[in-house]
Amino acid sequence: MKELLLIPGPTPVNEEVLKEISKQPISHVSKDFAFYIEKSIEYLKEIFGTKKGSILIIPGSGTIAMEMAIKNLLNKNEKALVLSFGFFGDRFLEILEEDGFMFDFIKSEWGEVIDLNLITEKLKKEHFSVITITHVDTSTGILAPVEDYLKVIKEFSPDSLIILDGVCATGGVKEKMDEWGIDVILTGSQKALSVPPGLAILSVSEKAMEKRKHLGKIGFYYGDFLRWKETMDDPIKYFATHNTNYTFGLKKSLEIILSEGLENRFRRHYENANFIREKMDKIGFKVFGNKNYLSPTLSLFVYPEGVDDEEFRKKLHEKGITVASGIKNLKGKVFRMGHMGEVKKDELEYAYEKIIQVINR
Ligand code: PMP
Repeated sequence: MKELLLIPGPTPVNEEVLKEISKQPISHVSKDFAFYIEKSIEYLKEIFGTKKGSILIIPGSGTIAMEMAIKNLLNKNEKALVLSFGFFGDRFLEILEEDGFMFDFIKSEWGEVIDLNLITEKLKKEHFSVITITHVDTSTGILAPVEDYLKVIKEFSPDSLIILDGVCATGGVKEKMDEWGIDVILTGSQKALSVPPGLAILSVSEKAMEKRKHLGKIGFYYGDFLRWKETMDDPIKYFATHNTNYTFGLKKSLEIILSEGLENRFRRHYENANFIREKMDKIGFKVFGNKNYLSPTLSLFVYPEGVDDEEFRKKLHEKGITVASGIKNLKGKVFRMGHMGEVKKDELEYAYEKIIQVINR
């Protein structure tokens, strides 16, 4: 039986990447290992759309990258603004609260994006040192119109530092850090970069690094941008042990991504998303969320009357296809299907056939 992991991360991993990961580790402070870091940095710069950004590859998951971004950029007497349209946008609020920072937020309904006028109003009234944006909120399947947000932000608050959470986007949709004027893009290895979970990856602008330097001690030894930057600039210098084998895998996966070509890859994501959505629509599974802002990396399908969530996912899993449940208020109402990274159109077709079998029983 063919098994397919179609959750919105972790995503399927190419055999060549798995082969790299399963090699014997090598010294994390050797020239041989430095080569893997240096190449990965070179490739990631292309994916993030940055020339001067500092790339940090950290053993950890996406959440540590979120917390690092906040703690390295914000002073306790400054305020952050969170633009949230789902569960992962709200995570920034939890981090800010937990770590004792001042913040405000604008939230949209789930399935929608934030009204630009609300951002304008907020920025006219108050200054925010840091603004967070979630590129794709994995709880809603919505892709934020980042370029539109940024036009407003750059007009009314040009010196705010911008953090973009790319966990469910990077490598699957366009991101142009330098051109758009983003200060930190962060992601995890397990989604559209097609590496197993385990690496948190950040790209940090020069302006953001300068800010970090001015903050002095930040109370986050492991997550300090400056400590990581030193070992990324010269991987032979030890700070904390690199995840050697996942870095082997990362380098390989980035080569696969770039050999496909970023434009081709982004187009494939759109085409595959449309392909499966059209099919599912025909059998009564409508896609959740505002149609103008659907992310190509995952879909939330609304159950038609009479289909039980737990039973549907269990039966589908028995046929080798794993999808994810809805989160919070959407639990029981939708299921989430990841179609990013390595997922191929014929695999989506295969999954669709299994879905038909499950609902026709
Ligand atoms: N942000 C987004 C948009 C996510 O989808 C996730 C994970 N699903 C996270 C942050 C947190 O990442 P992790 O689970 O790797 O800590």
